[in-house]
Amino acid sequence: MRPPRLVRPVLFVCLSALVGCGDGGPGSSPGTGGEAAGGNGGAGSGSGGNAGAGGGAGTSGAAGSVGSAGTGGDAGAGGGTAGAAATGGRGGAGGSAGGAGRGGTGGGAAGAAGRGGTGGAAGTGGTGGATGAGGGANPTCKRGIAANTAPGAAFYPAVRWWYNWGLSRSGGNTGIEFVPMFWDERDVTKSVVAGARYLLGFNEPNFKAQSNLTALAAATAWPTLTANAGRAGVPIVVGPGMNFCGPAASCNGTDPYLYVKDFLAACDGCQVDHIAVHWYDNFPSLRAYIESNASLEGWVQFGKPICLTEFSLGGSATVAQQEAFMREAIPYLESQPNVFRYSWFSADPIPNARLINSDGTPTALGQVYISLTSNCP
Ligand code: BGC
Repeated sequence: MRPPRLVRPVLFVCLSALVGCGDGGPGSSPGTGGEAAGGNGGAGSGSGGNAGAGGGAGTSGAAGSVGSAGTGGDAGAGGGTAGAAATGGRGGAGGSAGGAGRGGTGGGAAGAAGRGGTGGAAGTGGTGGATGAGGGANPTCKRGIAANTAPGAAFYPAVRWWYNWGLSRSGGNTGIEFVPMFWDERDVTKSVVAGARYLLGFNEPNFKAQSNLTALAAATAWPTLTANAGRAGVPIVVGPGMNFCGPAASCNGTDPYLYVKDFLAACDGCQVDHIAVHWYDNFPSLRAYIESNASLEGWVQFGKPICLTEFSLGGSATVAQQEAFMREAIPYLESQPNVFRYSWFSADPIPNARLINSDGTPTALGQVYISLTSNCP
C-alpha cells in the first residue's frame, strides 16, 4: 500500500512513491538490424563528462553499428552500447553516456539502449559512437507504468517497461520489460530476476512512511545493493526514488534535491547510473521540477539520466483532468533529452489515474496512454 503521499509544504502538493528506469543493458546476441535508433546525440563524445547529456535523440541510428565506444571512459559505453548491440555484443556496460542505439531485433535489442546520459562523468575520454550511434540522453523507448497490476498485452508495444515496487512480477508476460526494485535496505541481498537490465533503488527513503532511510543509511546500504546487481549482471542501477516530503516530522528530510546531494556525497564512488524522481502536480511544475525554475532546483543539475518513476496529477483530479495533464506531459517527456524513462502511476490511492483494469486490460485513460505518440520505433 501506498500511504498518502504528500506534499510540498510551500509550493506544490505532491504525492509520492517510485520506479526505475533502465535501459541499455547488455546485449547478448547480435542484433540484427538494430532499431537504428541510435542517432547522434553526441553520446559519448564528450570529453569532459556530461557527454551523453547532450545527445539528442539519434536520428540516424545505424544503431550503433559503430558506436563502439569511446576510447576511454564510460562515455564510450554509450556508443559502444549501441554499436555492440548491433554487432553482437553487449551494451557497454560501463558506459553512461551513450547511446540510444538499441540493438535490433536479436539480442541486440539489448544493447540497446544505451543509456543516455549519465555519461557525463564518464564522458571523459570516450568518444563513444563516433558514428552517431550514440544518442546520448535521449533513448527512444521511454514509456512505462508503475502499477501493482501487470499491464496486459494491449499495452505493448506502446509501453515498454513496468515495475511494481517489488522484485518479482506476477503475470505480465507480454514482452513489456519488468524492472525490479529494491524497495528498502532489507531487499538489497535478495535475488534479482533473471535478465533484468535495470534495478531501481529505494522507494522514497525520505518518507518515513515509505522506505524510511536517512541519506547516510541509504548510502551505507548502497554498495551491497550494487554488488548484488553486479553479480546478477544488471548493468544499470537507478538511484533512490525521490519526491518532496512533508510535514518534516514525517520525513528524513523534506527536500529531495538535498537528500540526493547528501546521499551522493556519503556514497562517494558508488554506482548510481540514473536519478529517479516522482511528481504529482501540474505540467508547468513538472517541467520546473526537472529543469528548474525560481523555486525548484531541477534534477538536471546531477548530470545523470532522469527516470520519472511515478507521476500523475494528484488524487483529487478527475479522470478528465488526469487525461488533459497526460496529453501535455507525455510529448514533453518524450522529447526532453534528460528524461531517460517515465512511468505513469497507476495504483492506489489515485484511482482516477489508473491505466490498468484488474484483468490487465487498459482503462479509457490507459487507451489514451497507449495512443499518444512516442519516439519508440
Ligand atoms: C508504495 C508501494 C505501493 C505503491 C502503490 C508506493 O508508494 O511504496 O508499496 O505498492 O505505492 O500503492
